[in-house]
Amino acid sequence: MTRVRFAPSPTGHIHIGNLRTALLNWLHARSTKGSFLLRFDDTDRERSRQEYIDGIKEDLAWLGLDYDETAFQSKRIEKYNQARDLLIASGRLYPCYETSEELEKKRKIQRAQSIPPVYDRAALKLSLSDRERLEAGGIKPHWRFLLDQKPIKFHDAIRGDVTIDAGSLSDPVLIRADGSYLYTLGSVVDDLDFNITHVIRGDDHESNSAVQIQIFEALGGHAPAFAHHSMLVDEHGGPLSKRLGSLSLRGLREEGYEPGALLCYLAQLGHGEQIEPTAHALNLTKGFRLDRLSKAPARLLVNELDQINARILAGLEFEEVAHRLAPLENMSELWPVVRGNITKLQDVEKWHDLLFGPRVVEKPEADLLFAALDKLPSMPFTQETWSSWTAAISQATGLKGKKLFMPLRLALTGADKGPEMAQVLPLLGRELVASRLGG
Ligand code: GLU
Repeated sequence: MTRVRFAPSPTGHIHIGNLRTALLNWLHARSTKGSFLLRFDDTDRERSRQEYIDGIKEDLAWLGLDYDETAFQSKRIEKYNQARDLLIASGRLYPCYETSEELEKKRKIQRAQSIPPVYDRAALKLSLSDRERLEAGGIKPHWRFLLDQKPIKFHDAIRGDVTIDAGSLSDPVLIRADGSYLYTLGSVVDDLDFNITHVIRGDDHESNSAVQIQIFEALGGHAPAFAHHSMLVDEHGGPLSKRLGSLSLRGLREEGYEPGALLCYLAQLGHGEQIEPTAHALNLTKGFRLDRLSKAPARLLVNELDQINARILAGLEFEEVAHRLAPLENMSELWPVVRGNITKLQDVEKWHDLLFGPRVVEKPEADLLFAALDKLPSMPFTQETWSSWTAAISQATGLKGKKLFMPLRLALTGADKGPEMAQVLPLLGRELVASRLGG
């Protein structure tokens, strides 16, 4: 059975980039009838917060991305201690005593000599008495994993065959000087314990995966399959602007994006197949395959997201949105008339103001409006009233097409484009129409 996990660090809220990771994992789990684990990588005690744990759960619930299990790395320290002992016993984990300033100095020198800034393993040469002396001086070690410096090869479901030369990487720190674990080790131990079959994450983790493959093996296990998806970029191929890139899901929600629009858009990015906008996440599993994703960076275009948002809103019934609309009069009649002409839900309020609010006629076309008022039929107004009425005005004034319709639309709705006038007329009613025409 497929088992995947989404592993946010609760040091902030989910943003659009990690939402894509969550969604791809969820889609893979749901389209293969597998299981989806939500794992909080919360070993960084200083930066992890309960409010972010709650916030991430709330955001996933808002999106409709359900999970089958939850795990917290902070509750699994015992397991990491066992792995630590095993790696120390097999000589793959060694203590280091350099301060971050010393390490930075070494890197500076390496760069000046055009040598890659890879850790020089100086700590491996320390004798037992050197270490005792350092520790007696109050220095606590951090611990590095001894990489086997050979090419690491793996098959990536998105990127194809990947080779990373371990000789070009520093031995990764797995335990900080304060004894806390970095996610690098915890993640491998968890992936083994939870029988994770696929690790799906951003391609910024590609070299971590190479390192982790060696840790999986050093712990006597096998690495799961990997799929590294590309990063999101802006329309020019550059990094996402600060506004979009750092925009949390709750920020997008406040801006008026529908959860379905975010999911559809993110599910569509990175492959050529169009997805029919849907408010129901499970519909997105149809045809989902990791290997259809391109390894090229995925362009995030706000206008495309807006279009999908608009299409989703156009398909919603009043009952589905009523609780989120401002409690204004006529909303249930207004909704079906304007839902095809809004980008965000709150645009309904603008239409409400335009159609029902006090307004002066913007471009009074005296003759036309006078004829319109004269020919205005009596109630009730139906869907047919608009065409019979405008035919009568046309006959009286000789005006046709745009010259006839545009001033009327402007006078009645306050905008030069918008909902079907045939629907607007019955919505406004005779009294309001007459007053808009100057009557
Ligand atoms: N906590 C890690 C991150 O947010 C998880 C990476 C992974 O999926 O293994 O980057």
